[in-house]
Amino acid sequence: MPDVKKVLIVGGGSAGWIMAAYLNGALNKKGTEKNIDITLVESPDIPSISVGEATIPSIGHILGVIGLNEREFMKATNATFKQSIKYANWLNNEGEFYHHPFSRYRPGPIDRSAQDWIGSDRKIPFTETVSAQAMICEMGLAPQMLGEWDFGTKLKYAYHMDAAKFANYLRDFSVPKGVKHLLANVTKTNIQENGHIKSVQTACGKTLSADLFIDCTGFSAHLMEKALGVGFEDCSQWLLCDRAAVMHIPYDDYFPSQVRPYTTATAQSAGWIWDIPMSIQRSIGYVHSSAFITEEQAQKELHAYEGAHSGAYETKFINFKVGRREQAWKGNCIAVGLSGGFIEPLESTGIYLCDLAAVMLAEHFPFTQNAMEAMAFRFNRILTNRFYEILDFINMHYCLSRRTDTDFWKEVQKPEHITDRLQAKLEFWKLKLPSTADFDDQFFPGQTSASLSGHGDVRRPIDTAGLWNHESYEAILYGMDFRGPEFENKPGHVRHPVRVPEFIIQRLHGARQKLPPHHIWLNQVMGMHQYEMHTPPPGWGKA
Ligand code: FAD
Repeated sequence: MPDVKKVLIVGGGSAGWIMAAYLNGALNKKGTEKNIDITLVESPDIPSISVGEATIPSIGHILGVIGLNEREFMKATNATFKQSIKYANWLNNEGEFYHHPFSRYRPGPIDRSAQDWIGSDRKIPFTETVSAQAMICEMGLAPQMLGEWDFGTKLKYAYHMDAAKFANYLRDFSVPKGVKHLLANVTKTNIQENGHIKSVQTACGKTLSADLFIDCTGFSAHLMEKALGVGFEDCSQWLLCDRAAVMHIPYDDYFPSQVRPYTTATAQSAGWIWDIPMSIQRSIGYVHSSAFITEEQAQKELHAYEGAHSGAYETKFINFKVGRREQAWKGNCIAVGLSGGFIEPLESTGIYLCDLAAVMLAEHFPFTQNAMEAMAFRFNRILTNRFYEILDFINMHYCLSRRTDTDFWKEVQKPEHITDRLQAKLEFWKLKLPSTADFDDQFFPGQTSASLSGHGDVRRPIDTAGLWNHESYEAILYGMDFRGPEFENKPGHVRHPVRVPEFIIQRLHGARQKLPPHHIWLNQVMGMHQYEMHTPPPGWGKA
């Protein structure tokens, strides 16, 4: 019998319910065994962060282990498909855009796509020479067929969904399978002599004890920060945005003629606007830096983006701090979700980090007390590496910009706002194109300082390409014209016409025959309502 058996999750936002459902799926075999005892307590008064949220394909693994049916999940969370992120106006603010799609074509053992494209006339964007998915997105097509799939390699996709509904769906799925659920405000944490948490107390006088505690209380980090005093490493030096202005536009009022099968991230004067289509509404949100724009101005820009009809909807402001908990796992407590840290949602990594924590905890579950420290050490290392990997990648979107139209864009390009490792990577990639080897034991010439502040593990974080490999980097680098001017001005350089591999051309021809428009798939398969069409607002179609 394990001596670490009782798990108490505090907080019932998407982090809390992902942890509960995944641990029950992985360690209790979807509730058919009782190896660990899982209880989730959540406040009946404190609302969870509820914005329309975009995910990345790793969520497919989570749904599978929990045992969810994809279509039921999509219906319950108002989900739509997401195949890419489209970045608009990030380079020059001249209506330019590029995609970061999930699927990419691999030509063979040696991939010279980037080399070939760099030397070409670049009349077709880089991603369109390595993936059909950017164009599939632009055509508004679903990544699934109406009937059975017979279109070769499957297209990778994730979902846009309502995160609050996702948490509720996971609750309704997990409670009948053995997860205990309590509604109460946790007001006090009782600590043992060895620094481990013994129990928590609720406002209604209950004492809840456990062997392992998971803090999913959101930005308040009730256990990890308030009780255990684990600090927060501020990363706002590299990512300047600290607030979001969020709005929902119901399709009943305004349906913009299609449901885009991708997220749009459109750069603005002091940040960027996400545009996330779900099956009954769109969520838009202006992620911005409060040092460069007031709430009133941000709201104005959000309205200008959406069009005149947006005046009818409430704008909610959410403040956030970019950074990470110095230790995600301390003693017998693990901070997951917003209590563990936050990076702005430019590449949709919030829920991903909850997913990663769930997978890593299931893999490193400390079934005995004497395993606790060793498991914590590994867990912290993996989560730390991944946090910095994400930080570099998001940071890169800003620092490659050539916009000088506002103080914000001038500021983000300054060297002091670029992480040490990213700077080193970019310098190195001026000498050689990105490749798999760059993610092996990563440490680059010119890289000077470690960005990890210690806390039991003094090693530098390494980028294992666990989430984004050199191909993802290429999508952003060449989308942002990295080294473009250098090649443009190279004396005697003859540019050949850009080449699109036959496979991609064939795939696009096939896509038109095989794949239905996204909203038609949602109408026919998910029973999405057929909304009346409206002409898209002026800002919406800009990119
Ligand atoms: P919350 O949703 O805040 O939930 C906290 C829970 O703790 C609530 O249930 C609350 O009742 C409970 N609680 C708090 N205190 C107590 C207490 N004392 N006692 C009992 N219960 C308590 N992620 C993505 O993947 N994609 C996106 O597109 C995306 N967009 C985002 C946009 C913004 C502006 C923000 C801020 C975040 C975004 N995220 C996104 C991140 C994502 O929202 C979170 O990572 C994810 O929802 C997890 O949130 P959470 O459960 O940690 O916190």
